[in-house]
Amino acid sequence: AKEKGKNIFCFYNKEMDKALQEQFELEWSLRKAIEQNQFKLFYQPIIDLKRMKICGAEALIRWIHPEKGFIPPLSFIPIAEQTGLISKIGEWVISRSVSDLKEIKMAINDSFYVSVNVSLKEFSTSNFVDNVLYSINSLKIEPTEFGIEITESVAMVDPQKTIGILNFLKERGIKILLDDFGTGYSSLNYLKQLPIDIVKIDRSFIQNMTYDQKEQKMAKSLIDLSHILDLKVVAEGIEDERQAELLKTFSCDFGQGYLFGKPMPKEELLELAKRF
Ligand code: C2E
Ligand code: CA
Ligand code: CA
Ligand code: CA
Repeated sequence: AKEKGKNIFCFYNKEMDKALQEQFELEWSLRKAIEQNQFKLFYQPIIDLKRMKICGAEALIRWIHPEKGFIPPLSFIPIAEQTGLISKIGEWVISRSVSDLKEIKMAINDSFYVSVNVSLKEFSTSNFVDNVLYSINSLKIEPTEFGIEITESVAMVDPQKTIGILNFLKERGIKILLDDFGTGYSSLNYLKQLPIDIVKIDRSFIQNMTYDQKEQKMAKSLIDLSHILDLKVVAEGIEDERQAELLKTFSCDFGQGYLFGKPMPKEELLELAKRF
């Protein structure tokens, strides 16, 4: 029994070593990725469901590793957060998305907005607000054409500080979007406390909406509730026409999902915007 215990211990240790090793390697290659600029921003169109026109896009980061190829954000954002590398990445996301927005606006000369995902750690760094305002001002972007998407977990850390920062940005015109709405534990509480402009209803509600009556009623109620509170609504993850039609009958303002377009390079978005 003693022998066995020892073996298990060794095995466990090796596994831990392996996990730790992988974590270190990822951190190391993430540092290199920042230095060598291996990131790209993709844009997923957001459609005005009443006019059926593109009105904006969400910026989603892509890491193109020289050997491993495409690495999805959910496999590196958490480590970037743990190691603090997220602030460098986030800075890049903001300045790149603002300069891309400038280019998009010049090409389509219509009102258009871009929103970026802001993670927990980044939000609490002291120069986050300066960074956003500086990028926008230096390119003369209308603040109302730039949005930040926050999740409930971001808001949770230090509510007073979060409310302060959000109010400051909102007073300057920047749009505040509450991401993944409906999936957190205290959604309603946040909706009450935070200066939100737009609510993004999580894909999980949209997915089963056309064949699950309960989910359909929940999606409708979330839209109605948002409207009662004078908030606009984006439905995430629309994949087929039936979902889109149903959401239109629920007076949902905006839609996003594979039906309208997957996340794509800026050049493709420009092509799509010309056709839509
Ligand atoms: P999110 O903010 O909820 O983004 C929506 C995700 O759903 C994206 O995955 C998008 O590609 C995917 N999606 C959009 N439409 C559909 C659809 O119709 N069907 C399905 N099945 N999926 C759809 P992606 O790009 O892999 O991003 C995953 C998450 O990574 C994002 O979730 C966001 O939380 C995070 N993320 C992405 N870019 C950034 C960034 O620049 N900074 C930070 N901090 N987080 C980011
Ligand atoms: Ca988002
Ligand atoms: Ca989302
Ligand atoms: Ca999400």
